[in-house]
Amino acid sequence: MRTPVVAGNWKMNTTLAEASALARAIAAGVSGVNGVTTIVCPPAVSLLPVSMALNESSVFIGAQDLSAHPRGAHTGELSADMLAGLCTYVIVGHSERRSMYGEDDATTAAKAGAALAAGLRPIVCVGESLGVRDSGEAESFVASQVKGSLAEMPDLSGVLIAYEPVWAIGTGRAASPEIAQEMASAIRNALASLYSSDTADAVPILYGGSVNVDNAASYAASPDVDGALVGGASLDGHAFSHIVEAFAASG
Ligand code: PEP
Repeated sequence: MRTPVVAGNWKMNTTLAEASALARAIAAGVSGVNGVTTIVCPPAVSLLPVSMALNESSVFIGAQDLSAHPRGAHTGELSADMLAGLCTYVIVGHSERRSMYGEDDATTAAKAGAALAAGLRPIVCVGESLGVRDSGEAESFVASQVKGSLAEMPDLSGVLIAYEPVWAIGTGRAASPEIAQEMASAIRNALASLYSSDTADAVPILYGGSVNVDNAASYAASPDVDGALVGGASLDGHAFSHIVEAFAASG
């Protein structure tokens, strides 16, 4: 039995004050909602104030990225050990990191490995472009991304996967629940052949791409979709809390 997970990716939004206020609004909105793991991923500079704002709440904190390197001359980067004191989860391989910062499956695997070694839980993002979907190769493309982004990691406990089709992120063009289910199931099959069916059954697979209050319940009803990675709608405390409730109701 996989517990649903709803994670909000705030991206490069919110000042320190806005981040604390949003965290407090979410904590209030989801208090009393059981049976779902709620995560917020604020900008790195807000991890500390957000953790203070969430002090009394069950909401977990994630970072949006990390360095694969342990320390040293990497100006501007944050290591897994630095983040480990501030959060529990970290997003790796987000499509914006892949498309804007040249990160590939190998980089993503190195970051996921660094996260796990520091006791952080990586949310490994995969997803096809529109061109790949139109060519009919979405399942094999994403299966290959899963393989490359895990790079023979010996143990997947602690790992989450987010299926985020590039064409659905920030576009308002959400994948249908059928596509989300089909792709989550394809990812689970890929995990079963790379690892074992027990491992595949245990890994939470989230859907991400224009999830909102109106469509959340349809993903929550999909058997292989265990939650959502939410961008835009996670910046509205009320909307995000309703999305969390939709997944709680499905658990
Ligand atoms: C995301 O950034 O991971 C995302 C899914 O964004 P949005 O919900 O805005 O499409």
